[in-house]
Amino acid sequence: MEEKQVVLVTGGSRGIGKEVALKYAENGYNVVINYVSDRTDVGALEKEFKEKGAESVIVKADVTNTEQIDELVTKAIEKFGKIDVLVNNAGITKDTLLMRMKEEDFDSVIQVNLKGTFIVTKAVIPYMMKKKSGRIINLSSVVGVTGNAGQCNYSASKAGIIGFTKSLARELASRNIRANAVAPGFIATDMTAVLSDSVKENIDAQIPMKRMGTAKEVANVIYFLGSEESSYITGQVINIDGGMVM
Ligand code: NAP
Repeated sequence: MEEKQVVLVTGGSRGIGKEVALKYAENGYNVVINYVSDRTDVGALEKEFKEKGAESVIVKADVTNTEQIDELVTKAIEKFGKIDVLVNNAGITKDTLLMRMKEEDFDSVIQVNLKGTFIVTKAVIPYMMKKKSGRIINLSSVVGVTGNAGQCNYSASKAGIIGFTKSLARELASRNIRANAVAPGFIATDMTAVLSDSVKENIDAQIPMKRMGTAKEVANVIYFLGSEESSYITGQVINIDGGMVM
């Protein structure tokens, strides 16, 4: 029997990350996820992956904490022996206009979204380099491309992820490791559930397809970028936004 492939999805406990992990699970991968807040549903998550045929490693590990991430990667390697696909998905927002933005709100968003991507990638790539094979998909955002009032911290982190991804793709292409980013528009998850109905209506009006996207629609593209079907694509940013950016 062929050995199963392994995906590590940061922030795979809910939202886009969970859909991504489930998509890989139903396509024959074993799954590693982490999360940061206290959770009581780890057993239920494990069961959901099992129902899709996947073994899982589910660990509380903060992407900003190098030691915790090293432990997460060690646990994954101990259980599965390798990591074929890394999805840097964990992310937060702390939205407000720059005039009102506290220094700690800027720092924490950059730390989690951008530095977290650096910390997890650095912990994983030695194993990919050893195998001379790997795929990395980073979560940017449409606002990392266009900017957005009220999101100087978040859009800077997401623009940073684009530069990080392109540099990584150039460094690792000759090692048979591809790195791409996705730039979702407005996707219905806990992150956007906090927006008021009038803000959501305004957003929908600006989207050519006139609706928010679903986490599944993002997961499908991330799955494609982690598969052999995208074997000649690296260093790209793929928009998943109902036509917001053309
Ligand atoms: P979400 O529903 O808020 O889920 C965020 C996930 O990240 C959760 O699993 C959370 O873990 C985890 N996380 C947060 N901080 C972490 C940390 N320090 N260490 C480890 N895990 C951490 O978010 P989402 O909407 O699915 O977004 C996922 C990604 O897509 C983010 O990078 C986001 O910026 C990006 N994105 C989202 C949208 C959108 O419209 N939703 C659009 C463009 C890009 P806990 O469950 O423990 O809190």
